[in-house]
Amino acid sequence: MESSTPETPKKKVNLQRVEMSKQSPEVRGQNFDEVAFGYTPEEAMAEASRCLDCKKPGCVGNCPVEISIPDFIRAINAGDFAEGIRIIREKNCLPAVTGRVCPQEEQCEGGCVFAKKGASVAIGRLERFLADWEANQVSTSPSVKKPRPTGRKVAVIGGGPAGLTVAGDLIQLGHQVTVYEALHKVGGVLIYGIPEFRLPKKIVRREVENLKAMGVEFVTSFVVGKTRTIDSLLEEHDAIFVGSGAGLPWFMDIPGNNLNGVYSANEYLTRMNLMKGYTFPAVQTPIKQHKRVAVIGGGNVAMDCARTALRLGAEAHIVYRRSRSELPARLEEVENAEEEGVIFDFLTLPTACVDDGHAWVKGLACQKMELGEPDASGRRSPIPVPGSDYVMPVDAVIYAIGNSPNPLIPATTPDLVIGKKGNISAEDATGKTSKARVWAGGDVVTGAATVILAMGAGRKAARDIHRYLHTLDND
Ligand SMILES: Cc1cc2nc3c(=O)[nH]c(=O)nc-3n(C[C@H](O)[C@H](O)[C@H](O)COP(=O)(O)OP(=O)(O)OC[C@H]3O[C@@H](n4cnc5c(N)ncnc54)[C@H](O)[C@@H]3O)c2cc1C
Repeated sequence: MESSTPETPKKKVNLQRVEMSKQSPEVRGQNFDEVAFGYTPEEAMAEASRCLDCKKPGCVGNCPVEISIPDFIRAINAGDFAEGIRIIREKNCLPAVTGRVCPQEEQCEGGCVFAKKGASVAIGRLERFLADWEANQVSTSPSVKKPRPTGRKVAVIGGGPAGLTVAGDLIQLGHQVTVYEALHKVGGVLIYGIPEFRLPKKIVRREVENLKAMGVEFVTSFVVGKTRTIDSLLEEHDAIFVGSGAGLPWFMDIPGNNLNGVYSANEYLTRMNLMKGYTFPAVQTPIKQHKRVAVIGGGNVAMDCARTALRLGAEAHIVYRRSRSELPARLEEVENAEEEGVIFDFLTLPTACVDDGHAWVKGLACQKMELGEPDASGRRSPIPVPGSDYVMPVDAVIYAIGNSPNPLIPATTPDLVIGKKGNISAEDATGKTSKARVWAGGDVVTGAATVILAMGAGRKAARDIHRYLHTLDND
């Protein structure tokens, strides 16, 4: 991490972050509109002026796609927003998304000289500001030079952040790119998982429209492994990138998982987001109105489920077996959930979903835990407290404890080496798999991770695919 060295320019230190205004918790708990309003130009410039413009910026080293952060902040400081967004777009094709959902405190902002004082420059908010500023200009599509066509064809499987990054990078290099997406809409988790109040869907649609304007073709409702196999797609494409994500939910091995009212986070959030259940009856997706909901897990997915259930009028509980400081969710989302009234049941381990006698869940049996010695992850491991069992009365239980890759592509693709957890094995630096002409990246390789890591993997794979396609010209 960068420290204040003689190399760091002398500038007045300002440890006061400019706050971003939000809907009040009472109001936003009743609607699905975006929680945070974003910076005004004046606020963005004030926040940008806090940057010390370090000679060795720790923020850049911590960014998986290596955005030239001090350069775009300097542009904001000078009021040149067009230049700021141009700098970001050199490295990031989804800035309005990452500015909203990246775990900045662990990444760019974690590398800021002010991080130790809890006052890092609000890099994520500034990125979001520029992306939103760009969207409000008369010409909404970023101007792109049309490259000379290479005649090479690439298939991208999955329209999530990894696939969209590969598509954006390769189309700009002149290759013909077709994205094959299983769902009827493109965006992956950004469209079916993360709720509207955290990431408005019009933002994802806009980024997809930008890619279409650049020439990327999208084929939706196309399930690779069923509609066509990878081998069959290889007959008409020079290369394939697999970015099919991790959409297979995990459940705990406890009794009662088959009861009505027990959901995976994927099912619950897909009904709500992709199928707009929260606008029923305006749309045809009914969603049961639950009174008390227990969400098992402590990550972003768990926060999204609990905050969605709360907005639908339920008393929403997060049931997590460790304590607050071990919660893996973004801090901002934990604070938002707390403000909105989500109840956190820490040090609590579910042991069964309880039947009401008519195959509906009526409770979640739990046991209290205490923290023992650190485990392999470095976090203190939870240990059961004897005699602490109880039943929490609930009419819905939502599992948000993780996902692994869907087995369809591995099962239908010979020569693809698959890891223990069902993930596709691929080289870290290039995304190259064991199968010739096939690359992979994002959650399908790493297991459930983050948007920016999926994008970073897509960037590396696109670079290597381009290098490979170039070798074909020299053959
Ligand atoms: C509810 C939720 C909240 C999250 N919140 C955050 C957050 O705040 N910050 C953050 O950084 N990360 C967050 N994440 C994680 C992040 O969204 C993922 O790490 C990221 O989306 C992975 O990108 P990907 O492109 O690898 O996969 P995905 O986004 O999963 O996209 C994969 C796409 O492939 C398609 N597909 C799958 N199989 C096939 C097939 N056989 N044929 C064709 N298409 C196929 C899928 O339909 C999907 O559209 C969250 C995840 C969830 C579920």
